[in-house]
Amino acid sequence: MSRPTTRPTPRSVLVVGGGTAGNGLTVLLRRAGIAVDLVEAEADWNATAGSGITLQGNALRVLREIGVWEQVRDLGFPSHELAILAVDGTVRHVRKDIRTGGDGLPATVGMRRPQLQRLLIDAVRASGARVRLGTTVTGLRQDAGGVDVRFSDGGEGRYDLVVAADGLNSATRALIGIEDRPAPTGMAIWRAPAPRPRHVRRTEIVYGGPCFIAGYCPTSEHTVYAYLAERNRDRATLPPSAYAEEMRALAAGYGGAWEEIRASITDSAQVNYTWFDRLLVEGPWHRGRVVLAGDAAHCCPPTLAQGAAMSLEDIAVLAELLTTRADWDDRLFADYRDRRLPRVRTVVDASVRLGQWLLDGVRDADVPGLIGRTMAVLEEQP
Ligand SMILES: Cc1cc2nc3c(=O)[nH]c(=O)nc-3n(C[C@H](O)[C@H](O)[C@H](O)COP(=O)(O)OP(=O)(O)OC[C@H]3O[C@@H](n4cnc5c(N)ncnc54)[C@H](O)[C@@H]3O)c2cc1C
Repeated sequence: MSRPTTRPTPRSVLVVGGGTAGNGLTVLLRRAGIAVDLVEAEADWNATAGSGITLQGNALRVLREIGVWEQVRDLGFPSHELAILAVDGTVRHVRKDIRTGGDGLPATVGMRRPQLQRLLIDAVRASGARVRLGTTVTGLRQDAGGVDVRFSDGGEGRYDLVVAADGLNSATRALIGIEDRPAPTGMAIWRAPAPRPRHVRRTEIVYGGPCFIAGYCPTSEHTVYAYLAERNRDRATLPPSAYAEEMRALAAGYGGAWEEIRASITDSAQVNYTWFDRLLVEGPWHRGRVVLAGDAAHCCPPTLAQGAAMSLEDIAVLAELLTTRADWDDRLFADYRDRRLPRVRTVVDASVRLGQWLLDGVRDADVPGLIGRTMAVLEEQP
């Protein structure tokens, strides 16, 4: 008589952080019948979503798996090419974007970021996960069988697995003793939503002029998000009330659609100023039964618009392993990190290099070559 296989029952997960990675993972795990608690530090779950996002095919592939692709398609603005413009707005070069999600998906979809976050929040709510907003983890204690967690609201829980999806400055990463921290790359970006100038139907970018990068991306029939990247400055000298004026002044150096976009940048509350950071945890992405996902493990400047895509790929791979393997053990977490690290490193290195070439004023850099090689890697399934 064959011995019955003893199937371990590690079937409860705490997800820390309700951003792109945490929300997506929650939905995928709930679909497999796993009990998920999600805690999010912000009381308003959609407070820090920002203005716009470019979702490339490999991100869309995961969003389809999560079950929100149709809504993303209906709300966003698809595109298959990118134009490089001169400072006065004349077209210098048009590049066909690689369809990193395969032929069934657009090369990119631009989207208003709060709408993406709203779709993911609704999917989490519908999944039956238990959500607590305005809550953080204050303590973790592990033994062979699970993780005891203390929360900022005084609550406690015991879980088979904790996923740190709490972003770039992950407090959970620090709690488990992973000492890697993000480092500024030297560049910063101004971003604002604006009405879509009628002829703008793709991302258009200027390299040069008063800023290193001036670009805009349609995010719906009626909107774009516009951005200007420059050398980072001391944030203490930038009063947020002056952001709109500052962004308008920088945008004044650009012609074409920028004239219309610039005129609409009037509300400083709509303008976001952020430094670019780099992070790549090269060592293990887990300690015991606590594992990193998304920006908590890696981040890069958005020069390739791949940060959220890498975060979504992380959670697709992690969910696949958690829902197909009997044992949630060191081997699983090492396999997860080994599957992700080379691909993430390719994206992080290329994203940082593109920014560094601009900071260093390298004129003969092979930008199309680097972008093409990186995107070709991303056509493969993660
Ligand atoms: C300027 C800029 C532009 C970008 N543009 C693009 C783009 O066009 N395309 C693209 O693919 N990527 C882009 N990215 C990258 C993308 O934003 C990130 O990679 C992505 O948001 C990472 O998702 P995440 O869920 O890992 O982290 P986050 O989205 O940062 O989510 C983390 C969540 O955890 C919460 N949290 C934080 N601390 C705690 C805590 N202690 N306890 C509980 N919750 C906590 C936060 O409130 C947040 O909700 C851009 C990034 C920047 C900075």
